[in-house]
Amino acid sequence: MSGTDMKLVVVGAAGRMGQTLIRTIKARPGTQLFAAVERPGSPFIGRDAGEISGLGPIGVTITDKPLEAFVEAEGVLDFTSPVASVEFADLAAQARIVHVIGTTGCSTGDETRFKAAARHARIVKSGNMSLGVNLLGVLTEQAARALGPADWDIEILEMHHKHKVDAPSGTALLLGEAAASGRGIDLTSQSVRVRDGHTGARVAGTIGFATLRGGSVIGEHSVILAGEGEQVTLSHSATDRSIFARGAVTAALWARDQKPGLYSMLDVLGLS
Ligand code: NAD
Repeated sequence: MSGTDMKLVVVGAAGRMGQTLIRTIKARPGTQLFAAVERPGSPFIGRDAGEISGLGPIGVTITDKPLEAFVEAEGVLDFTSPVASVEFADLAAQARIVHVIGTTGCSTGDETRFKAAARHARIVKSGNMSLGVNLLGVLTEQAARALGPADWDIEILEMHHKHKVDAPSGTALLLGEAAASGRGIDLTSQSVRVRDGHTGARVAGTIGFATLRGGSVIGEHSVILAGEGEQVTLSHSATDRSIFARGAVTAALWARDQKPGLYSMLDVLGLS
């Protein structure tokens, strides 16, 4: 373990999560904000990263040159978009540093690129970086195992703010994967992501998703296990984005001492 502060780069620095990450790093002993990166053409290029996050000037100017920042840094915190995260994974592999990916809505092809980059980078990727949701995933797996598909139906309900661009949320999919793992089934072939019109009766053993969007909701998730005459609901409410940012910084510090590879928050939190 190095005794010096871990040099971190925030990409997507002007975003909702980017600004939260900048404030979180400033408050976290053992870390320093080394650089802040935005997309080429962003009106935030050249601005002070602290100023745009409500901290006042901190002397870190937002740039659009990620590789220049990565080669001198030890870790990247990335809550951007799938296309950007794939590019950043390649650059993190070139620089052989830690890459924490919180971006959601990634395709199977994107996941293959992350796996390839993890031969050289230490990647931690999770659809939700909070302790609470990762614990909820463990509880969901247990509940899905204990309450079998013949008598219990599993539905996952989520709500997020109106600006969110992907659905179901990364967290809903994380919880779906946990339920599928408890049941020993493949989520992709067993999930019902949308219902509309005359759908016919529910197929036993499937995992259903329902998506709500509106207002400023940070993240509400419920896993509903519905049986004959009784129902079990496991749920999580996020009331502050700092839970994700704190988890991401914890993941970077943890990954600093790991071998190259693709890890999840369950590994970081010792819940795997
Ligand atoms: P946002 O739109 O507010 O911020 C994204 C930022 O990334 C924007 O400022 C955008 O300009 C920037 N960006 C895009 N392409 C870039 C590039 N090539 N280089 C540099 N910057 C680039 O979105 P947000 O609400 O902060 O969420 C971002 C992502 O994080 C989403 O996928 C969201 O679902 C996910 N998220 C994950 C977690 C988690 O715990 N895993 C929690 C919250 C949000």
